[in-house]
Order: sequence, then structure tokens, then C-alpha cells
Amino acid sequence: LGRRIPEPVQRDEIHQLTVTINELLSRLERLFSTQQRFVADVSHELRTPLTVMQGNLEVLERGASTDPALVKEMVGDMRRETARLIRMVNDLLLLAQSETNVVLRSEPVELDTLLLEVFRELRPLANQVRLRIGAEDQILVYGDRDRIKQALLNLGVNALQYTPPGGLVILSLERYEQFACLSVADTGIGISEAERDLIFERFYRVDRSRSRHSGGTGLGLSIVKWVAEAHGGYVTVASEVGRGSTFAIYLPLPESPATSSTG
Ligand code: ADP
Repeated sequence: LGRRIPEPVQRDEIHQLTVTINELLSRLERLFSTQQRFVADVSHELRTPLTVMQGNLEVLERGASTDPALVKEMVGDMRRETARLIRMVNDLLLLAQSETNVVLRSEPVELDTLLLEVFRELRPLANQVRLRIGAEDQILVYGDRDRIKQALLNLGVNALQYTPPGGLVILSLERYEQFACLSVADTGIGISEAERDLIFERFYRVDRSRSRHSGGTGLGLSIVKWVAEAHGGYVTVASEVGRGSTFAIYLPLPESPATSSTG
């Protein structure tokens, strides 16, 4: 008695519930189609190197080519495609972790030492491009050293990849407000404004054949973005077509202990 819920309120609640359920359904739908697209993309990307290898193997098996130079070339192609496949699978495994809310390590990382390490590892890849270290502050952050290194290496490899001979690539480390900023600047081909956001998507490349030819997986920048964000940081890119690009990873600095207590 007297406890009846007034009808207009009830209708209102049902209406609210319907709206919520519908919103949930469209979110699920979006998630599902993103997943579907991802699986389709992965299959396509994995199939390409496998098709190249299958074709070459068939030719070799038939003994169709007796020209040693051609045989050597085909075996070389297969070796490169295998290496790219392995890289792609490794990148995919790493990215799969980003879906599972994996907790990254939180160890002290001396970014200046890390920068030097990356510089040394990139040097053999810099054939006709000058590679330098620019600004280099001494900065310590807490995070996952291997992942940060991988992210910086990805940016470095890209910079060298997309910079024509005679160009310059500079690695830097600076403090920027509450963040440590690891940056890679190049004088390469640059990226148009329309593509600046898209390049962080999985498998997106401005020039598919160029990326594939150079052993790219199209996953490098999505890894960089994930690593930065998993550390509470972010990635930026500034670029001008034909002039070059600067990618930067911002990682939060540790909370500084009260400096006044050192008296
Ligand atoms: P990829 O393996 O193809 O390099 P990434 O995810 O690392 O994949 O990069 C995505 C795309 O972004 C590249 O294919 C390229 O078109 C563009 N890109 C990345 N870095 C640079 C750069 N430094 N200069 C110009 N374009 C770049």
C-alpha cells in the first residue's frame, strides 16, 4: 500500500536501461569489428611472406632454375622473409600483452645509459646517414627497461629507414616539465598531416611496398605508443613532408622528494 512506484518514473527507468543496454551493444559491436579487422589484417600480413616463400620453394623444388646467382637470390629472399615473419610474430606477442593489462616492470632506468646503448646498436644500421646524440641530460625514471629500449630502437630504426643517404638522425634526452623526453629527429621523407595519427595504428604504413621491402612489420609505432602509455606517458610526432620528422616519447619523472628537507 502506498508503496507503488509512480508509473512515469518506472517508464523513465526502463527507458534509461534500454539506452544503457543499446550503448553497451554498440560498444560490443565496435569492439567485435575491430577484433575482426585485426584478425583479417594479421592473416593478410602473415600470408604475404609465406606466399613469397612458397613460390620460391616451388621453383627450387622443380629445379626450374639452375642459374646459381638466381638460386642465391631466391634463398636470400626467403631468408629475409623468414626474418620478417619472426619479427612480426614477436611484435604481435608483445602487442598481445598490451591487451591483457600486463603489469610492466618498475625498475630504475638510467635513460642516458639507455640512450647510449641504443645509439651503439643503431650505428651499424646507419650506412649513409649520419647518426648523432644531441642533448643528453642525466635522467632516471622507473619503468620497464627492455620495453623502453625497444620503443626507442623502433623509432631509431624508422628514422634511419625513412631518411635518404646524406641525411641526419639525432637521438636526444631532455627534461620537459614533469617528463623525461626521449626524441629521435630525422631529416627524412616526413609524414603528411593526414597520416600523422594513422601511422600509430597496427599495420598502417604510408607506403606498403617500401615498408615491406625494408623488412618493416607495420607494428613498430603501435608498440612505441603502447609502451609510452603503459608508463603513464605519451608519444608525439612533428613532421614536414620532404624535410623530416621528430618523434618523442614522454615518460613521467619520479615524484621528487621534498627538496627543502635537505637542510
Ligand atoms: P614499419 O614497420 O612499416 O616501419 P611502423 O609502425 O614503425 O611500421 O611505422 C608505420 C609507418 O609510419 C611506416 O610504414 C612509415 O610509412 C611511417 N613512418 C614511421 N617512421 C617514420 C619516419 N621517421 N619518417 C617517415 N615516415 C615514417
